[in-house]
Amino acid sequence: MADNGPNDGDGLARKLAALRLSYAAKLPGELEKIEEAAALLGSDPSPEEARQGLDVLHRLTHKLSGSGETFGFKELGEISRQIEAICASMLELDAPPPSGLREELGVLVKDLRTAAGDAQDVPPAAGEPGRSVVEISGEGQEKNKEEKTILLAAQDSALAEKLEMELFNFGFKVRALSHPAEMGGKLKELRPAALVVDMEAGENGPTEWEAPECLNPKNWGKDGAFHCPVVFLSASEDIKTLLAAVRAGGGAFLTKPVNAGELVDALDGLIESDDRELYRILIVDDDQSMAGYVKTIIQNAGMNASVATDPMKVMDRISDFAPELILMDLYMPGCNGQELATAIRLRPAFAGIPIVFLSGESDRSKQLAALGGGGDDFLTKSISPEHLIASVKTRVRRFRMLRSLMVRDSMTGLFNHTTTNELLEIELARARRNKTSLALASLDLDHFKGVNDTHGHAVGDRVIKSLARLLKQRLRGTDIIGRMGGEEFAVVLCNAGGGQARKAMDQIRAAFSKIKHQTEKGTFTVTLSCGVAAFSKFAAPPLLTEAADKALYAAKEGGRNRVVLVKT
Ligand code: GH3
Ligand code: MG
Ligand code: MG
Repeated sequence: MADNGPNDGDGLARKLAALRLSYAAKLPGELEKIEEAAALLGSDPSPEEARQGLDVLHRLTHKLSGSGETFGFKELGEISRQIEAICASMLELDAPPPSGLREELGVLVKDLRTAAGDAQDVPPAAGEPGRSVVEISGEGQEKNKEEKTILLAAQDSALAEKLEMELFNFGFKVRALSHPAEMGGKLKELRPAALVVDMEAGENGPTEWEAPECLNPKNWGKDGAFHCPVVFLSASEDIKTLLAAVRAGGGAFLTKPVNAGELVDALDGLIESDDRELYRILIVDDDQSMAGYVKTIIQNAGMNASVATDPMKVMDRISDFAPELILMDLYMPGCNGQELATAIRLRPAFAGIPIVFLSGESDRSKQLAALGGGGDDFLTKSISPEHLIASVKTRVRRFRMLRSLMVRDSMTGLFNHTTTNELLEIELARARRNKTSLALASLDLDHFKGVNDTHGHAVGDRVIKSLARLLKQRLRGTDIIGRMGGEEFAVVLCNAGGGQARKAMDQIRAAFSKIKHQTEKGTFTVTLSCGVAAFSKFAAPPLLTEAADKALYAAKEGGRNRVVLVKT
């Protein structure tokens, strides 16, 4: 691919220029349709012909005025807007147009042809779909859910070994430096998700191990810098040490002996922002060129965009794509955006999705009317890419925050009971439709009452959180993880058969059983039991849940700390 990825400003410019060219190529066809409609109005039309001609002319020029401006064909856009305005006012009067106005329309359509001809000759200037191209930050770029690498700088090899083992259980891969001079090279080579630095050298150890000395590029030889979040570890908590950590760019500070749970919490907090799912934006517009243009801008800003050009198919697309914002055109064949927004709002599951109209409509009263029907905002098609992106991102961010308050369990951040069941239903329907596999796992901590009794409720809570974190780290982004209550969890594994799900859950079981939970008095381990049921055999959600629970019961009966796949 010639393109260097979504952040490449040149790549965006090239893509937009290509879209502009293909738009220009379609112009003559559009012009012919406009001239045909104008001809209907030519000489002495019947009221019926006049209305029909005006209607078509209005629709076509409306489309052209929005997209013309977007693609930088300013004159074309302006003339279209004039024709559109005349048509709109005559349609409103509902009277045949007087001959003077008809003549004016005829002249404007001719002007339009000339402007379109000029548009064909305009070379696609670099970075030019009519305005400057922004270089968009990569916030929210897709990242694999693969293991995250942590680079560890600690002279104490026992500490390094311990952290390596403990973090591994949470899905982190730890690489330890053997000498501080390797720092620059390893940062570049491994591009770690975070750096963990022990601030003290061992007894009589060389000072270059001491942070921030080991972070000083002067001590690295020739290697350049790579920036990532840094966590400092120190036995001392005095203000001088803390200040040194802050000045060296520390994102978190932990006192030794290090509690693995706390370290993972700190890492999660610092790394989390990279791990978010991409924002999902649905673009509804019958005009392919316009939709393609908006899609390119959205994708280049690191978001996931999908286009629906047929308004009649929007409901299915919303179910499948689960957009977090809908950008909707106002005038489309079949139904208008306002009606469609209202229809979307009628479905309870879709009621909260922000809907933003993106239209060529510049009449403020029509914009307001559209908002009355359930839209959240109105943007005009001449909006700059920067403004569009900012507007979209702000809304999706807020949508995510509000939704997470309703659907997430506050202690673990996993889906709550109700939401997990709703999502299971949606995924089952999808699996049935697409004939794909799906499995449901039910998990329960073993002898958890005992943990609470021995170590207290607060420590018990930490154990629950550690399992939640492990599930998030180990499962795929498409899997649904829920806390069903207390110390019970459910996982919906999409596109996984029973055997595959059993294997995945067994790896999690094994990793969890190795986590050393720390208290002041020492460490202890906890195990879990799990039941797995596969979809092909259990169609409806209650049956699948029942089957998974039965398998979980069998796992408990069988001695706990095991995964049982239900057999029928
Ligand atoms: P089993 O192996 O049979 O599952 O034994 P168990 O002790 O885990 O038994 P059971 O599932 O009946 O008990 C669950 C216990 O989990 C009861 C309750 O004290 C504890 N628990 C439930 N919710 C929470 C919570 O949010 N935090 C803490 N710390 N404990 C909880
Ligand atoms: Mg239980
Ligand atoms: Mg239990």
